[in-house]
Amino acid sequence: MSNPTSQSLIEQINLLEKKEISSLELTQLYLTNIEKNKDLNCFISLNDKALEEAKKIDKLKERKSLLQGIPLAHKDIFCAEGYKTTCGSKMLENFISPYSSTVFDKLKKSNSIMVGKTNMDEFAMGSSNETSYFGNVKNPINKKRSPGGSSGGSAAAVRANLCAFATGTDTGGSIRQPASFCGITGIKPTYGRVSRWGMVAFASSLDQAGIFAKSAIDASIALEIISGFDEKDSTSINENVPKLINETTSEMDHIIGIPFKLIEKINDYKVKQNFLDCIDLLKKNGIKTKEIDLPFIEYSLPAYYVIAPAECSANLSRYDGIKYGYRCENPKDLEDLYTRTRSEGFGEEVKKRILIGTYCLSAGYFDAYYLKAQKIRARITNSFKEAFKNVTVIAMPTCSNEAFELGSIQDPVKMYEQDIYTIPANLAGLPAISVPSGLINKMPLGLQFIGNHLDEGKILNISHEFQKITDYHVY
Ligand code: GLN
Repeated sequence: MSNPTSQSLIEQINLLEKKEISSLELTQLYLTNIEKNKDLNCFISLNDKALEEAKKIDKLKERKSLLQGIPLAHKDIFCAEGYKTTCGSKMLENFISPYSSTVFDKLKKSNSIMVGKTNMDEFAMGSSNETSYFGNVKNPINKKRSPGGSSGGSAAAVRANLCAFATGTDTGGSIRQPASFCGITGIKPTYGRVSRWGMVAFASSLDQAGIFAKSAIDASIALEIISGFDEKDSTSINENVPKLINETTSEMDHIIGIPFKLIEKINDYKVKQNFLDCIDLLKKNGIKTKEIDLPFIEYSLPAYYVIAPAECSANLSRYDGIKYGYRCENPKDLEDLYTRTRSEGFGEEVKKRILIGTYCLSAGYFDAYYLKAQKIRARITNSFKEAFKNVTVIAMPTCSNEAFELGSIQDPVKMYEQDIYTIPANLAGLPAISVPSGLINKMPLGLQFIGNHLDEGKILNISHEFQKITDYHVY
């Protein structure tokens, strides 16, 4: 038998069901892989009770969930009672969660095993993992390259077989871009599909939790478990969650919408060609396509970089050195305590965004920046609504480039441009997925499918269709 850790989640579930492997053995194999791959820096902390938990699970007589006994990793943004939740920041370096996030709880109740908490850009702000206080993660395919961000630790951990699947969050692309860079599948569901309770907030109207896995089928299993209404999150959607694995594998008729005007503007001809080749392949396999127009979409990036910092400046005001987290030493007075705590506890990128956000929200500038950005957001949402009258899903590249070398992007705007194709789905609150679509310069690229509101099933389904006719996701 090949090492079970290199098999898919569905294959591992099969092995556990048939008792061909125990959860303890599987967990041990993953911990060995983690130990061997320490240099990737995927984890901020490990769960030292993982083996003990797996032993207990093995004693259960019945399997109560597909994920029972499966080792997974959580992005270190999800509170887990009794465990550290650092959010990649010095500010929360020693913060032990007093309660658990709904995502953590749901996975715990499914009897899966958390092996550890993954590294990430500080407070999920970044596209390269380089803003983490704990040092950047390395891309397992080429260690000189970035794994993407902000959920780079989760993406790299799945790619390097350090867990069967992992959780992540996506505010502007933080699941899909790292999935693309690491050659795996990453899905961000509809805003409100997964509860944000206990997930450290960055930009609350955009933040959404999701899954990294080896394939669309694997992702569908884990996503279904974490989805669903939660009264603790006022933006949670009160709708039933369908059986996602059935939707993923069922027969569906698709018409893929393609925003050709946007595609024409892609600078890198290899990225453009890769996308067009994928569409050709889908067409050859009988799937219909249709050109669509997405007006205002080119303003997504500037709108996001007003709205996200504005919300972050409000959310991060809670780190004041009083309630929890880092506190500076020997403050002279209260003012000094606030100022030094925040100056010393936050990294440069976070501070920059707090300043931008505070500026955009300030009395004289609110209308000119924040209100305008919200108007653009409404227009973009309408563009998608119109498009979905004629198509079942929309396709575009996940990113305009493959994983870049660590340290190679110094211009902040260039870094922000990483999310040019991912941000629109966040602004409109729509589900979106990235699946591996081939290699350029020996590094993977991603193909993105965006779905209509609550259509996770449809984007998983088209991704599965694509993975049936390609082997880019097999490694
Ligand atoms: N890279 C984007 C940013 O820096 C998106 C981050 C995210 O999705 N959490 O804001």
